[in-house]
Amino acid sequence: MRNIGIIAHIDAGKTTTTERILYYTGRTHRLGETHNGESVMDYLPSEKERGITITSAATTCTWREEQINIVDTPGHVDFTAEVERSLRVLDGAVAIFCAKGGVEPQSETVWRQADKYGVPRLAYINKMDAMGADFQAVVEQMEARLGTNPAVITLPFYENEEFSGLIDLVNLSCLRFEDRLGNDVREESIPEAMAGEVAAGRQRLVETAAEADEALMELFLDDQPVATSDLQRALRQGTISGQLVPVLCGSSYRNIGVQRLLDAILDYLPSPSEAEPVKAWVDGEEDAVVLDLESSSGPLAALVFKIISDRHVGRLAFVRIYSGQLKAGSYVYNSVRGRKEHIGRLLRMHANHREEVDVLKAGDIGAVIGLKEAITGDTLANEEYPLMLENISFPEPVISIAIEARKKSEQVRIGEALARIAVEDPTFRVSIDPETGETLIWGMGELHLEIVAERLLREFRVEADLGQPKVAYRETITRPANGECKYAKQSGGRGQFAHVKLSIEPAEGLIVEHRIVGGAIPREYLPAVEAGVREALAEGVIKGYPVVNLKVTVLDGSYHEVDSSELAFKLAGSMAVKEALRKAAPRLLEPVMKLEITTPEEFTGNIINNLTSKRGRLASMDNSRNTQILRSFVPLAELFGYSTAIRSLTQGRASFSMEFSHYQATEVAV
Ligand code: GDP
Repeated sequence: MRNIGIIAHIDAGKTTTTERILYYTGRTHRLGETHNGESVMDYLPSEKERGITITSAATTCTWREEQINIVDTPGHVDFTAEVERSLRVLDGAVAIFCAKGGVEPQSETVWRQADKYGVPRLAYINKMDAMGADFQAVVEQMEARLGTNPAVITLPFYENEEFSGLIDLVNLSCLRFEDRLGNDVREESIPEAMAGEVAAGRQRLVETAAEADEALMELFLDDQPVATSDLQRALRQGTISGQLVPVLCGSSYRNIGVQRLLDAILDYLPSPSEAEPVKAWVDGEEDAVVLDLESSSGPLAALVFKIISDRHVGRLAFVRIYSGQLKAGSYVYNSVRGRKEHIGRLLRMHANHREEVDVLKAGDIGAVIGLKEAITGDTLANEEYPLMLENISFPEPVISIAIEARKKSEQVRIGEALARIAVEDPTFRVSIDPETGETLIWGMGELHLEIVAERLLREFRVEADLGQPKVAYRETITRPANGECKYAKQSGGRGQFAHVKLSIEPAEGLIVEHRIVGGAIPREYLPAVEAGVREALAEGVIKGYPVVNLKVTVLDGSYHEVDSSELAFKLAGSMAVKEALRKAAPRLLEPVMKLEITTPEEFTGNIINNLTSKRGRLASMDNSRNTQILRSFVPLAELFGYSTAIRSLTQGRASFSMEFSHYQATEVAV
């Protein structure tokens, strides 16, 4: 079994390649071209229309009698959270590059994300049939820009100057794709004219592979012949350990090379048991448990990595089983929520049908129908041994927009629809503005929220009006301070009394600690103090934005035998921290986006001037083939409507992508 993802810059050919994979593995009987909007993988209408894949679903297919689960990953960087959660459940990935465009900024972003999760990779250089395709240039860019160690295992083969097959440097053969659908593949000997190029390529391949395998290194140094099996073993080892990346080429659109890619997935990417060991924890126990990825008899540990609300079956939860097995009709324990849940039915999703299965075993990926409470990041386990896998972390939303149903009568439906979308998408939130009573939706960027509005229309049939986007500011403190509150109230009968002293200081994240000695505040009231503190920090003292990056230490206090209560301590905690905040030189923070612009050189000056006026900071400039790549950091507040602005600056010839980077102190009035 293999659990793989296909990662690529948008337009590199991920959808086309995935479709061809499903075609050759025999699950779909018809080839649908993506430009006709017929892709089998992109099943959400808004994805089809935009021609980009946003949501990740898992599809199963079979090649050489092995099961391959493909977890779909989005190509658009506005959806990095989606990419990251997919990478988390994969054991290996295929990175697709365009033979013309090469390593583009967004390919670099997804590549680095895969680095972060240590995902072993193959590279597939697609569009070899296109004008201006340059295989060697892309291999060189992989080295220079991504810092990889490419091991080229196929070279392009041209006949009458047309891309028509592959030279396989592992088996030393020439593969010619004879018919239009690429079903008829002839394996022939290497053409005489290419002998020199092939010998050099093979030499380089063996040398690269030998660095990952001592036995092969000895053969190589002694100039001994190398058997195919030795070479494959070394390549496999090197891929799994991340020392090298096998590189293949092809043209998915012209149906050339996809079967070899499937072979390479099985030959070089790890099975679940060969992948990096995964750890889990049991509440209260110090040490982590290393899970045996091959053991279906071990304790259950399954990660919920995606929730989709499906029109036909309702809530569909995608899970990856790390240990043990999940049985249809059984009860499991959601160890994150501390709840028992019922596994209704289990499904394996194929491109165009769902297969009902009785059991999903360690290593497998599938979908569960029937889970009511589980959300993305939860672990399903046994109640007797409640293992907990590492949760998936998602960034907090950086932008909000007021939303309203166009027809008053649809206000309730829109609320329900938004709640469903929020269950599926952990980077999307819904709230009510306490002052205006408006419904606010929160997300990772303008495009993200526009797509939500589109989904409302297409899937839920409600039309919505969006307001102006607003930045999600934060507040923080710049120096330590103390706060104290003695809350005492006498109102007829029983009074209220609580007394809290605390200190705050700048720190990473948000930490609340107690350093109470001699029972100055009885233990039973400490949770109430903490709750009061956290509640107060949700609305800062400058403009009511959440306060971040500080540590609160509850130091001292006093209580009254009769009059003290949880409520009184909560209020005292809240008021003490507010007092401290005011004394700690609070500052407003604003989200800063990483903005990458690809533009013809002539517009560089215009763009940079414009960025400067937007308080942008230029981080780097790269020039490749008359194209400039500008990387910069710009406050989100300056970027609303940027797609229109850059279009008019560059006659529509530049493209850009942005993603949240960090929060920084604002220099301007808000
Ligand atoms: P995605 O955005 O990565 O999913 O890319 P698509 O699969 O939608 O492909 C983007 C565009 O490139 C479409 O118009 C495809 O028809 C085209 N395309 C994909 N593969 C190839 C190929 O091998 N050769 C050529 N010439 N075009 C291709």
